[in-house]
Amino acid sequence: MIKTQPSCTDIFESGLMPCEVALSRILANLPTINGYQRLPIEKTRGRTLYEAIVSTLNVPAQTNSAVDGYALHSSELPSEGIKRLAVKGLALAGTPYQGAVEPSTCLRIMTGAALPKPFDTAIMQEHVETEDGFIAIDNRHKAGDNVRRAGEDIKQGETVLAPGRYLTPPDIGLLASLGINEINVRRPLVVAIASTGNEIFAPFETPGEGGIYDSNRYSLLAALDRPDIEVVDLGIIEDDPDTLLKRFNEAGRYADLIISSGGVSVGEADFTKTALLNSGQVDFWKIAIKPGRPLAFGRIGNAAFFGLPGNPVAVLVTFYYFVLPALEKMLGIVDKPITPTIIARTTEKLRKKPGRTEIQRGILSRDQDGDWIVRTTGKQGSGILMSMSKANAFIILNHQDTSKSAGDWVTVRPFCGMF
Ligand code: AMP
Ligand code: MG
Repeated sequence: MIKTQPSCTDIFESGLMPCEVALSRILANLPTINGYQRLPIEKTRGRTLYEAIVSTLNVPAQTNSAVDGYALHSSELPSEGIKRLAVKGLALAGTPYQGAVEPSTCLRIMTGAALPKPFDTAIMQEHVETEDGFIAIDNRHKAGDNVRRAGEDIKQGETVLAPGRYLTPPDIGLLASLGINEINVRRPLVVAIASTGNEIFAPFETPGEGGIYDSNRYSLLAALDRPDIEVVDLGIIEDDPDTLLKRFNEAGRYADLIISSGGVSVGEADFTKTALLNSGQVDFWKIAIKPGRPLAFGRIGNAAFFGLPGNPVAVLVTFYYFVLPALEKMLGIVDKPITPTIIARTTEKLRKKPGRTEIQRGILSRDQDGDWIVRTTGKQGSGILMSMSKANAFIILNHQDTSKSAGDWVTVRPFCGMF
């Protein structure tokens, strides 16, 4: 049986929960999923490495020349004056010199060609005089010049990538350079998403009276369109506690994570809250963050559950602040390229209430001196999706921050690599 009146399970009922507290509770309660897939390396961009990659090779495999020129043993280098050496043969990349090497000789060598033992030095062709099968070298050279030593980049047995690495194109090139063509990556995270509300219509429908188009599910579908996530679209669920519970319970059997939007606040029509209150597994929080104050978090069946607020900007802000770190935890990502934080001067006044974190939307750019500046995208209402669409960055006004005047420094998180 489902109660229709929400009971009071709000923690921090008297006040608001600081965002960092909410985030640390979320992360503490999320498991990292198990299971992996073996894939060809070129299909692993944006996936999480599941194994340690240990090199079975030295890179470079052989000591080789970094220049087009002449290879020789360093004992032939003159400490003063000029020395003549006979050119005994030719070494090319992929076609090593096969003969024996003799004292007072050198080899013509091209970039990437192996140096025969015991040669240890290469001299740029621009630095020698050539004449009748001989070269003349002067005393400007040192032992080991212009040579890439075997194992200089990577030693055989060295761990080059550790589990939990979020794989990037250079990593994939690196794997190939070690002769590895398949690797184990963590299986994709299965995320079910839903919009809730009787007033919500899909963009291909004609909204009834008072109806609005569903933007949240599309923002989420797009934000979750990543190689490491498999999205299950639950569509729009009507505002009926039994239906909501049934659909969430179904998803809780196969999904790792369920994300819904709407219905988590304290209004008359907050059906998601009504549906889940009795499950005992979902907490309803009021968080000291604007936008995004109401947030539900917990478990449904086997899945973690996020009930995001209904307002379209609040959805994206809570996605950034709470869901993105949660995805990383569940995917076991421990090492990924950073999304930078930039300190910029605000070009205008930014109003901020004390006692909460405000995540405003801004346009980050550089002034004529090349210094970072940020301006707001204008009206910051949590339903104004234009404020988010025009933005290229969040302006983060921390809990203890007060309003900012034009020219003040503020913390900015560019969207690059985030959405
Ligand atoms: P709620 O928390 O369900 O009362 O929703 C708060 C506000 O967000 C209301 O104005 C809703 O109409 C709006 N809203 C809820 N879900 C969506 C959605 N999927 N797309 C656009 N707006 C929504
Ligand atoms: Mg609603």
